[in-house]
Amino acid sequence: MNILLTGGMGYIGSHIALSLLHDKHKVTILDNLSNSNIEVLNSLKFISSEEPNFIKGDVINTELVAKLLKDYKVDAVIHLAGLKAVGESVSRPVMYYKNNILGAVSLLEAMKSCNVLNLVFSSSATVYGIPNFLPISEEHPCKPNNPYGRSKFYIEEILSDLVITDKNWNIISLRYFNPVGSHESGLIGDHPNGIPNNLMPFINQVASGQQTHLKVFGNDYDTPDGTGVRDYIHVEDLSNAHLAALNNIDSNNNYQNYPLNFFNIGTGKGYSVLDVVHAFELANRLDIPYKIYPRRDGDIASSFADPKKANNFLGWKAKQSIDEMCLSSWNFQKNKSQ
Ligand code: NAD
Ligand code: UDP
Repeated sequence: MNILLTGGMGYIGSHIALSLLHDKHKVTILDNLSNSNIEVLNSLKFISSEEPNFIKGDVINTELVAKLLKDYKVDAVIHLAGLKAVGESVSRPVMYYKNNILGAVSLLEAMKSCNVLNLVFSSSATVYGIPNFLPISEEHPCKPNNPYGRSKFYIEEILSDLVITDKNWNIISLRYFNPVGSHESGLIGDHPNGIPNNLMPFINQVASGQQTHLKVFGNDYDTPDGTGVRDYIHVEDLSNAHLAALNNIDSNNNYQNYPLNFFNIGTGKGYSVLDVVHAFELANRLDIPYKIYPRRDGDIASSFADPKKANNFLGWKAKQSIDEMCLSSWNFQKNKSQ
């Protein structure tokens, strides 16, 4: 298939690009490089025998998107372009709503005008908000508690409206849990600007000596060791979920009683902060010093997926272990630090 991959230069998008190229899809990346670097393109070319097309541009530019859809005879779009930092979304909500929601609306308008009606959307477990029950299934109510999560939720509502109104649309929304890890080459990975907010990139920086210790945010949660529990998923497993979604894109509308098809993308297993620290230490034979700090605002005790719907309907299952996540994560960081 000819795929337009928005946000394809970013952490997750670059891994999806490789999976698509590996499966002989033709890939066109649209990215404004607001949170990524052009060097990623060289890595993609180096790792893969196929080359993606790359266009630097903004998804909010409807005319540009429509031109790309026509020029590259696009069959389906994977839409990742968006801003993703929860804390920043609280301080700059308008920027988040504009970029994420207007970006999605612009894309949909361009797709409709070109009659390209196949879409896989990057959503997030953040749409669920504070869990009422665990593991979180797709039946769980959505009550996102920050502007980032709300931007994802509102986009899903727009997508639902669209599939109700026009049955020709084929849309799958993937609700990612906590993507970590890197491609086996160690050439692409999670490369946040400045001090990382997320756990694994922060551990990487402690391991490489850029930070003296990990700040563990709270050890008084109602979890086995008191630290926060999350469902970490290897980014390569996550990439493969997009291939599975593409393969099932036109068997639309019948997965459950919702207008929109959405799927949890997680392993179903929860690991605490200290579990991850110890797994990282063991896998990489390194010490990760840590200190306990107060809870981080807005954090929840536990979040992990019930991934059965994706397992059953998409024929997809996460395969890689927490050790593999820690190994590949550090492999990328080591290469970057050299
Ligand atoms: P990322 O920031 O590394 O990648 C996003 C890419 O989109 C960047 O390259 C950025 O330059 C580009 N971009 C942003 N706005 C754009 C716009 N208006 N037009 C064109 N390009 C634009 O983030 P990521 O971690 O790879 O996340 C990708 C997607 O997955 C995002 O939509 C994010 O919300 C979603 N997601 C990420 C996580 C996570 O933990 N990383 C979890 C759940 C969902
Ligand atoms: N965390 C931590 N120290 C850090 C970053 C994160 O203790 O420097 C904890 C955080 O409180 C949460 C878990 O690690 O319990 C995962 O946090 P992350 O930001 O990676 O993901 P999210 O909060 O979005 O699930």
